[in-house]
Amino acid sequence: MGRIAYVNGRFERHAEAFVHIEDRGYQLADAVYEVWALFDGKLADLEGHFARLERSLSELQIAMPMSRKALTLVLRETVRQNRIRDGLLYLQVSRGVAPRDHAFPTNPVPPAVVITAKAIDRTEAEAKAAKGVSVITVPENRWGRCDIKTVGLLPNAMAKQAARLQGAAEAWFVDDLGFVTEGASSNAWIVKADGTVKTRDTNANILRGVTRHTLLDILQAEGIAIDQSPFTPEEALTAREAFITGAGALVLPVIAVDGKPIGSGTVGPMTSLLRRLYIEQAQASAL
Ligand code: PLP
Repeated sequence: MGRIAYVNGRFERHAEAFVHIEDRGYQLADAVYEVWALFDGKLADLEGHFARLERSLSELQIAMPMSRKALTLVLRETVRQNRIRDGLLYLQVSRGVAPRDHAFPTNPVPPAVVITAKAIDRTEAEAKAAKGVSVITVPENRWGRCDIKTVGLLPNAMAKQAARLQGAAEAWFVDDLGFVTEGASSNAWIVKADGTVKTRDTNANILRGVTRHTLLDILQAEGIAIDQSPFTPEEALTAREAFITGAGALVLPVIAVDGKPIGSGTVGPMTSLLRRLYIEQAQASAL
């Protein structure tokens, strides 16, 4: 059975699923998205992603396309129709279809909804996590509302491409003051020499990562010291360990920055522990 996508009220074959040429998401990046990790066919951090979706939409004055309950049903149905156990579920909501004009449509149009799902090979993902990944640094060049999860991802795409060309898995944006903001598709973390786990605070111009939030709760429950403040790439290089978080990465060890090793240049015990704890928690609470 091939892949199935949900597009504006209908389930269609993925290869034949299209949006209108005047969808404002397509023309103006006037759209937001969410990504859920799927464990055994269930959605991890279900409520956290919904809360952020509602916030992103409300910041852009786009209405929720349907109730949380109805949307949950459609999300689950997409997972079911694609027969996915482990994977990623993608939801995009645009302001809708309207004659091209930068200003919002004066006659309200219904938001446009696209949902897709794809399988992930967890064995492969675990093998990648066991080796760790490299990151590069790039100058922060994004707009001032990175807290809104919009599909306006060109700087992120360019950063990721630069990383790929250098054999790295992720790019960390570095702001004008020399501090890491976040990754192109993840939040950035280090483990300091004293064992404190450090990640940038969300007053900065970054996405409020749902995985980040859940991991902070886990750290607190485990009694592990947390420092939510900025760090530089140089500080990362003197740290014991580093890692990234996100619905795709989960908790993924970073072993080098700009080609220089972090700590011993291998995956550290704290990151391994946190990955395990996060996955256990996600599996146990997925809905
Ligand atoms: N930061 C950026 C720029 C992202 O695109 C993502 C995820 O896609 C994250 C952080 C991590 O967010 P989450 O943990 O909610 O997936």
